[in-house]
Amino acid sequence: MNSCRTHGLVLCVKDHGEADKIVTFFSPDLGKVTGIAKGAKRSKQRFVNKLEEFTLLEIIYRPARRDTLLFIVEAELKDSFLSLRRDFRRYIVAMLVLELVLRFTREHDPDSAIFSLLHWAMVSLENGEEPLQVGTLFHLRLLGAVGYQPELDRCGFCGRNVSAGASFTLHPATGSLVCDTCRRGSAEPFAPLSVQTLKFLEYAQRLELKNMDRLRLPKKNAREALLFLHRYTQHLLQHDITSWQQLKTLITA
Ligand SMILES: [Zn+2]
Repeated sequence: MNSCRTHGLVLCVKDHGEADKIVTFFSPDLGKVTGIAKGAKRSKQRFVNKLEEFTLLEIIYRPARRDTLLFIVEAELKDSFLSLRRDFRRYIVAMLVLELVLRFTREHDPDSAIFSLLHWAMVSLENGEEPLQVGTLFHLRLLGAVGYQPELDRCGFCGRNVSAGASFTLHPATGSLVCDTCRRGSAEPFAPLSVQTLKFLEYAQRLELKNMDRLRLPKKNAREALLFLHRYTQHLLQHDITSWQQLKTLITA
């Protein structure tokens, strides 16, 4: 069978038997796919330092037959994003980014917008952008890309616009905001979202990806936004995300 070529960012790597590795990566033209690299633990030349989380690779592969894994023939390193492994805060956010892509995307569902967003997050972290801001923006935009864009400009129940003087929180089941009037009597614990945070997030939802690094979100607002995105994600996935435990240490630091 003929070999094909693609590029992809590695999301997850597992050892398989004595010598092989199972690699899940996200590619703009294949989506999320899992492949096997035979002999990867032995082959210095074809795979060393390449099949690791966060790396961007040019991949030569043979397509999967039916339900089998794609066969990774060779990989060429395009970018290793080394600083993500060396800096604790960048690493935690990068792991969150990978986990969110793993959880929210389906296998073999190509989406160049998700790939661009994923690549943007790695480049921004590598370039020293504030990790909590990168994590917030990535999380927000990924939810939009997979069809769960939260509505952040008005109360989803009475239509009241977000403006100073009103108080809003998230209604996880609908992904919309609820104002303090509509929320009255609800047993849900109330974590208010400031108007400043909501305005920022709503603006960031509409911005072109190339302009996202121009945004500046104060840490206090990034914390508030991440707590809100986490709460919404817990509801959508119906379970927690593993990397949240570590991320929480950055938020409360
Ligand atoms: Zn309302």
